[in-house]
Amino acid sequence: MGYPMLEINSSKIKENTKLIVDECHKRGIQVAGVTKVFAGYERIVRAIVDGGIDIIADSRIENLKKFKKYDLPKMLIRIPMKSQAREIINYSDIALVSEFDTIKELQKYAKKENKKYKIILMVDVGDLREGIFYKEKQEIYETVKKILELSNIELHGIGTNLCCYGGVIPTKDNLTELVGVKKDLENYFNIRIPIISGGNSENIQIMRMNEMPMEINQLRIGVALAMGIGLYDKPIEGLNTDTIKLYAEIVEIKVKPSVPIGTIGIDAFGAKPQFEDRGFRKRAICALGRQDVYPEFLQPIDEKIKVLGSSSDHLIIDITDSDKELRIGDVIEFRVLYGGLLSAMTSKYVKKKVL
Ligand SMILES: *Cc1c(COP(=O)(O)O)cnc(C)c1O
Repeated sequence: MGYPMLEINSSKIKENTKLIVDECHKRGIQVAGVTKVFAGYERIVRAIVDGGIDIIADSRIENLKKFKKYDLPKMLIRIPMKSQAREIINYSDIALVSEFDTIKELQKYAKKENKKYKIILMVDVGDLREGIFYKEKQEIYETVKKILELSNIELHGIGTNLCCYGGVIPTKDNLTELVGVKKDLENYFNIRIPIISGGNSENIQIMRMNEMPMEINQLRIGVALAMGIGLYDKPIEGLNTDTIKLYAEIVEIKVKPSVPIGTIGIDAFGAKPQFEDRGFRKRAICALGRQDVYPEFLQPIDEKIKVLGSSSDHLIIDITDSDKELRIGDVIEFRVLYGGLLSAMTSKYVKKKVL
């Protein structure tokens, strides 16, 4: 197949999905399976669907379009672009929203298509990414008032997202805030809002500790299915974390000093690099660069190999301490972190092998 190559174990991802779906269903929580990290790659999405999710969720409408064949509701989880309103109405059933301007645009196309479109109004309880800030009560009420006047838009739920921009962790307190917003709206407008979409993989820990408010009945889960990790990127007990491997081929092996010779300016990415003098070391170059994945997201499976850095197309590793007699053409195996999976899936130069 050739290298660099990303190997994705879809049966392990399916096992992860089944386990999380079972646990959530036992607590009355529906699972929106988030597929965005797999860039719409069909066979992996199929594994997640087969794992029993209730909704397919993705950040890109281009991906949701490809999932038409799956008989599940499709949810757009990035705040919609106004310019994509028509496609969003055509290829999805639910969106997370925060701007009335865009909601009005969705109404326009939903009416044309004679469709009732569901929205989940996002409330920001502190992470400072999307949503109306929870203290802006007036904005929340005014937005809901206007939503309720729209004929083809259904206020399906209230939602929040944490642990993404601000790194704020989900707690009983901030999630109780969210539940409060929902209850107040129901009382004030005399309506029923069926869904509270309470967060992502980072919520699994407090869910397991029974500290997540009972009223939260939907989670949007991505990385836990993909890589078996959650809060603080720590493994979630019972899930497979060895789902993804990246392989890169060695194109050069040379013994060189560990500190560059000459006046050090800046590297190709504008940073002034730092070097530790460890004497002469055996270094290998792998045909893998930042165009595929940034080096900080790579961990060699052979713990005696160290990643030194990379430029656009060259990854430099220190193989001095490895017990293996590595040669040109040999392949090095890496574990990848979330950011690495995201970019390697997106790079057209990285081949994908789905097990
Ligand atoms: C990415 C994303 C998720 C899933 O997050 P994970 O940490 O991968 O579980 C959920 N909701 C929104 C809005 C997202 O953007």
